[in-house]
Amino acid sequence: MLNELNEKVSVLIIGSGPAGYTAAIYASRANLKPVLYQGIQPGGQLTITTEVENYPGYANGIQGPEMMIDFEKQAVRMGADIRYGIATKVDFSSQPYKVWIDDEKIIEANAIIIATGASAKWLGIPSEQKLNGMGVSACAVCDGFFFKGKDVAIVGAGDTAAEEALYLSKLCTTVNMVVRRDQMRASKIMQDRVINTPNIIIHWNSETDEILGENRVEAVRLKNTQTGEKTEIKVSAFFVAIGHQPNSDLFKEFIDMDETGYIKTIPGTSKTNIEGVFAAGDVQDKHYRQAVTAAGTGCMAALDAERYLSAKGLV
Ligand code: NDP
Repeated sequence: MLNELNEKVSVLIIGSGPAGYTAAIYASRANLKPVLYQGIQPGGQLTITTEVENYPGYANGIQGPEMMIDFEKQAVRMGADIRYGIATKVDFSSQPYKVWIDDEKIIEANAIIIATGASAKWLGIPSEQKLNGMGVSACAVCDGFFFKGKDVAIVGAGDTAAEEALYLSKLCTTVNMVVRRDQMRASKIMQDRVINTPNIIIHWNSETDEILGENRVEAVRLKNTQTGEKTEIKVSAFFVAIGHQPNSDLFKEFIDMDETGYIKTIPGTSKTNIEGVFAAGDVQDKHYRQAVTAAGTGCMAALDAERYLSAKGLV
C-alpha cells in the first residue's frame, strides 16, 4: 500500500555524477520519465576537482563543478526529475523495488540505476584538507598536467599509485613516491616499471607527516617508520592514491559485489545480479574511473533499463 509520502516511478536513478546524469538524459529521451536523487554530494567527485581538460566536447576545458551543472541542465531540459535527497535503505527482494529517501519517503520503481560513485580515500591529516585543490589531489590523471616540469609527490603503493606515478613521471621532473612499508602492494609488473623509471624516487618505510605550504603545496615532510627520522622534500603537488571506496554499502544485502565492494555487472552490460537493477559509473568500475567512461556506462544503464522495461511490458 502506498501512503501519501510514497510514490511510484518507472526508472529511479540514484546518484548524480556523469553516470547518473547521462542515464537521466537517455532515459528521459526514451520517455521513461526518470526520477534522479542526487545524494550526499550533488554532482559527485567532479565537484571537488578543478579544471577538466580530458572530457571530449569541451575544447577549452571546463571547471569540474561547472561541467556537472551542464550535465544537470541537459538532463532537466530532456525532462528528468532531479531531486535533492539521499537513498537511505533499499528493498530489492521483489518488484516493484523500493528505495527509502531520507528515511521517510519510499519510492517504488520498476527499474533502478545505481550510480552512487566512489570516494577517494584520504590520509586524514589536517594539511591535506587545507591544501585540497591547491596542489593536493586524489587524481593524477585529472590534475597532473598542471604540474608539468615540477617536482611532485604521490602516496600509495597499490596499482593505482603505480599507474599514477608512471603517468606523472612523463610530465613531471621528479616523482617522489611515498610507500609506508618496505614493499609495494602493486602487481609485480607495475612495481618493476616504477622501480625502473629513473625520475621516480621511492621513499620506503615512509609516512606522510605533514604537507607544507600556505596557499599552495610547497613541500612534504616524511617520517621514517623505522627510525622516526623526518625529512622535508620540496614539491609543488601531493597526490593521494591510497585507494577508493565504492559507495555501495546500501546495496550489499541484495547486489553482488567483489571483495572490495565494487558492484559486479555482467561484462559488456550494466546488469547486476538482480534483473531490473543496473549499475553505472565508478560504483562498478575500479579500473578506469574517468568522467567519460562513467558517462558511457550511464548511457548503457539507461538503454538496458529501457529494454528490460519493454520486454516486461512495463512501459
Ligand atoms: P589498493 O587498496 O590496492 O592499494 C592501496 C595502497 O595504498 C596500498 O599500497 C596501501 O598500503 C596504501 N595505503 C593505504 N592507506 C594508506 C595510508 N593511510 N598511508 C599510506 N599508504 C596507504 O588500492 P588501488 O586503488 O591501488 O587498487 C584498487 C584495486 O584496483 C586493486 O585490486 C588493484 O589491483 C586494481 N587496479 C588495477 C589496475 C590495473 O590492473 N591496471 C589499475 C588500478 C587499480 P599497504 O600496501 O601498506 O596496505
